This record gives sequence, C-alpha cells and structure tokens, in this order.
Amino acid sequence: MQTQPSGEVLNAQGTPIPALYAAGRTACGLATLGRSIYSPGLSLADTTYFGREAGRAAAG
Ligand SMILES: Cc1cc2nc3c(=O)[nH]c(=O)nc-3n(C[C@H](O)[C@H](O)[C@H](O)COP(=O)(O)OP(=O)(O)OC[C@H]3O[C@@H](n4cnc5c(N)ncnc54)[C@H](O)[C@@H]3O)c2cc1C
Repeated sequence: MQTQPSGEVLNAQGTPIPALYAAGRTACGLATLGRSIYSPGLSLADTTYFGREAGRAAAG
C-alpha cells in the first residue's frame, strides 16, 4: 500500500482513493532505494506525525 504524506491511500495508478486514509506502521516508514524499511525506535515518532497529518486532512 502507498499513501500520500497526507495519509490518502493511492490506487495502483498512483491516484488518491477518495475519502480513504491510512495511518500507523502500515502507512509510513523510512524509504530507502524505493522500499520501506523498519527502523527500530522511530515507529512511534513517524506513526504519530503522519497519523496527525492524516487526521487533519480527513477533517479538512
Ligand atoms: C515490545 C515492543 C517494543 C517497542 N518499542 C518501541 C520503541 O521503543 N520505539 C518505537 O518507536 N516503537 C516501538 N515499538 C513499535 C511500535 O509500538 C509500533 O510500531 C507502533 O505501535 C505501531 O503503531 P500502529 O498504530 O501501526 O499499530 P498499533 O499501535 O498496534 O495500533 C493498532 C490499534 O488498532 C486496534 N485494533 C486492531 N484491530 C481492531 C479492530 N478490528 N477494530 C478496532 N480497533 C482495532 C488495536 O487494539 C490497536 O490499539 C515497539 C513494539 C513492541 C511490540
């Protein structure tokens, strides 16, 4: 699954799916060479930051 920084979920063509947002570990993480990796100790920071962004976008 891929998302925008705003948490909007993208379809296979890379277009946002209307009104569908994602947050948490499945929706964010460091990306290196095109793939997401697990970086110990950073989960709570990036899930909190991007979850807040998704909430703000969904409410807007
Ligand atoms: C032992 C341990 C130590 C860790 N230490 C660290 C650390 O030091 N620093 C760090 O950054 N990360 C740490 N992590 C990783 C971090 O906790 C996770 O990556 C992070 O919590 C993932 O957040 P999430 O929102 O994706 O999922 P979760 O935090 O798992 O949240 C998912 C929520 O959805 C709820 N849920 C599930 N199914 C349903 C349903 N059907 N209906 C309604 N609710 C549902 C669950 O009850 C849960 O509250 C640790 C993880 C573990 C297991």
